[in-house]
Amino acid sequence: MITGKNYIGEELSALGETTYKTINPEKNSENEQEFIEATKDELNTAVEKGSKAFDVYKNKSAAEKARFLEAITSEFETLKEELIQIYVNESGLSEGRANGEFGRTVAQMHSFAEMLREGSWVEAIISNPEGKPDIRRMLTPVGPIAVFGASNFPFAFSTAGGDTASALAAGCPVVVKSHPMHSGTGELVSSAIIKAATKTGMPDGVFSNLNSSGIEVGQWLVKHPKIKAVGFTGSIKAGTALCRLAAGREEPIPVYAEMGSVNPVVALPSALNERGDFWAEQYAGSITLGTGQFCTAPGLILGIKGDALDNFIQVLGDSIRKIDPTCMLHPNIKAQYEKSKNEILSQQGFTEVADFPDEVNPNYAQQKVIAVEGNVFMNNKSFHNEVFGPFSVVVKCENKSQLTAIINNLEGQLTATVLNSKENELSEFKETIDALKGRVGRLIFNGVPTGVEVCAAMTHGGPFPATSDSKFTSVGLTAVKRWVRPVSFQDWPDFVLPEELKNGNPMGITRNVNGKVTKDAL
Ligand code: NAP
Repeated sequence: MITGKNYIGEELSALGETTYKTINPEKNSENEQEFIEATKDELNTAVEKGSKAFDVYKNKSAAEKARFLEAITSEFETLKEELIQIYVNESGLSEGRANGEFGRTVAQMHSFAEMLREGSWVEAIISNPEGKPDIRRMLTPVGPIAVFGASNFPFAFSTAGGDTASALAAGCPVVVKSHPMHSGTGELVSSAIIKAATKTGMPDGVFSNLNSSGIEVGQWLVKHPKIKAVGFTGSIKAGTALCRLAAGREEPIPVYAEMGSVNPVVALPSALNERGDFWAEQYAGSITLGTGQFCTAPGLILGIKGDALDNFIQVLGDSIRKIDPTCMLHPNIKAQYEKSKNEILSQQGFTEVADFPDEVNPNYAQQKVIAVEGNVFMNNKSFHNEVFGPFSVVVKCENKSQLTAIINNLEGQLTATVLNSKENELSEFKETIDALKGRVGRLIFNGVPTGVEVCAAMTHGGPFPATSDSKFTSVGLTAVKRWVRPVSFQDWPDFVLPEELKNGNPMGITRNVNGKVTKDAL
């Protein structure tokens, strides 16, 4: 049952007076439950509890932490029906999508649990050549983490999403600033985490969840001296504001913000000539998938002028028009979609590729695709801006050198995609592909950028403003690296060293010993 209260560690608390409700965007009406915004006192208690919990939690064994993560998934399964229902009521996303995201969130927790059991993620390095000091290095957790729930993934990038799962796996307690659009989903997910923590003997304060409908609670949290890092997914405006806030603290801390991206797609001539219709249909689907509310949605498609590109644009337009508009996450996101779309549409020099002129339900988005000439795009940065929703710009480049120049002028991106049907064309366009590599975190070949696999090799990151720190990913197992720091032990007796660094290698992990990668004992 949803109470509207905050989880301050294990305790359900409601000291505040400010209340708010979530919205069912499909019905365009408020949901019943009232949520009580966290007070500064509650926030302080949550962080203090987190800090105390850290002393205990960081020393739990890998197997104990893995059991905790797995217990969270068992509690989720028990609540599945209720979770799916509230997710749909608060997000306007379909039940199918809710089920898919539920599965992804559970699988993500399991993969971090497996990573902990295997153990090599701590990057143990031992240097002890004859006549030199014995130095042993491994990664250790930094302390309590603030996690901001994202609006567009109520399960997978929110309360128990990738940031929380990776921070808990690292050995860091988590204080979540719940996303106000899905506070009910957040509270129910939190109840599962708290139950799992209690059942597996984790310290009170290993997890807290704060309700908030404005920016104040998030700002207090980032400024709290005992918070050691921040995980965020959302707009460039909010992400950069949090980075500035964290950098201005007496003890500056890192903010790992995943923000905006238009995810350029380069359709090479062979792909347009040989599979133009196929790619146009695929991209109509990708642009409108999830009402375009994915950070990897294809907002920019680049090709070289000619009949094949004209045909692609024609088929893309026809396919887009056939797709029924769908509901956005919230009236505010819909308003933001209209605003940023209209800013671009108020510019000169584009042609319309596809429109959806019919009336739609209040929070539904009418998809839109436009086309511009390469020189117009080059000279007007407005066309480069992300429009969060089912919107895309096709750029008709004069030639290969203009295409490459345009890519070299783009901001940092999460992804780029290359469509190609002839192998030798890849060397012909080497400079263009190299330019893309310099701009993105993930390069896709003959596919669509929507869909981010949770796996060890995934990079869901990229140069600013795609993220605030391109060295890290927020999806995949290496997301854990955001919440740890290396520590070296010099000349310590074996019995006091962490398990991972002991001579006998009791965990059987892969280590680098004097330059050799091995699982052997010393
Ligand atoms: P948002 O505006 O970035 O807000 C995300 C979270 O940060 C919310 O909890 C918000 O709090 C908080 N926040 C916002 N500004 C803040 C500030 N100055 N200081 C401290 N906290 C702050 O994202 P949103 O509300 O989810 O969606 C708005 C727009 O963000 C979308 O239209 C889209 O353009 C973009 N977005 C991008 C992605 C992506 O993956 N790139 C994902 C989601 C959204 P309150 O809501 O309580 O004010």
